[in-house]
Amino acid sequence: MRLGLRGGNGAGPTPPQDSRDRAEQRMLRLIRRHVRDRHVLDAMRAVPRDEFVPAGLRHRAFEDGALPIGGGQTISQPLIVAMMTEAAALDGGERVLEVGTGSGYQAAVLAHVAREVVTVERVGALRRRARATLRRLGIHNARCLSAGAVLGAPADGPFDAIVVTAAAPDVPETLVGQLADGGRLVIPVGRRTEQELLVIARRGERLRRRSLGGCRFVPLLGEGGFADKGG
Ligand code: SAH
Repeated sequence: MRLGLRGGNGAGPTPPQDSRDRAEQRMLRLIRRHVRDRHVLDAMRAVPRDEFVPAGLRHRAFEDGALPIGGGQTISQPLIVAMMTEAAALDGGERVLEVGTGSGYQAAVLAHVAREVVTVERVGALRRRARATLRRLGIHNARCLSAGAVLGAPADGPFDAIVVTAAAPDVPETLVGQLADGGRLVIPVGRRTEQELLVIARRGERLRRRSLGGCRFVPLLGEGGFADKGG
């Protein structure tokens, strides 16, 4: 399956409530065809994606595509968000790490199905906006931290699940080290331009990996990621 993760540009007015709701229902129907986990479906229903996209793109918030959120970054495609959350296999008690806060949308969905979410972001402006959005929506079990020199949040681990929403060239050892025994790491791995969405399950020192198919994410930068080209 090829899951394009990048969306285009465009600006427009805020849609009236009924067309907004219809668009949201369409998005949820599509997700129900690919995702079975009840908790995930509840979360996708509960979190309003239009609150996480720039005002000029609100009318496209429920399209199944990625959308630009500034700084060359994107909010992930909603189906991918649902699939990654399902792959994290959460049932309410877990501590979860997200790498790549972006708009905060994936963090909000994770916060709906886990006990606690720690999310790290390297771009200060995005982190501040995501933090404000989560607060405005009353989501208090997700903490937005700034990314440090070491990938992830080593001081806050170990985590029952780690969801990486930027592409890495390989599975980063640093993140495997922040995974609790029995935990799951969900991460796009491959080239800068296209990747495979992997789920790595840790049992003791053994790692089992499976693929959810092809995908396209913006690159993870810094340790464990790609070189920062300065753009
Ligand atoms: N999960 C986001 C989409 C994230 S796009 C959402 O739901 O909207 C990927 C994000 O990863 C970008 O915001 C980028 O700045 C961030 N990123 C890239 N490398 C990173 C790193 N090493 N640590 C933390 N964040 C990183």
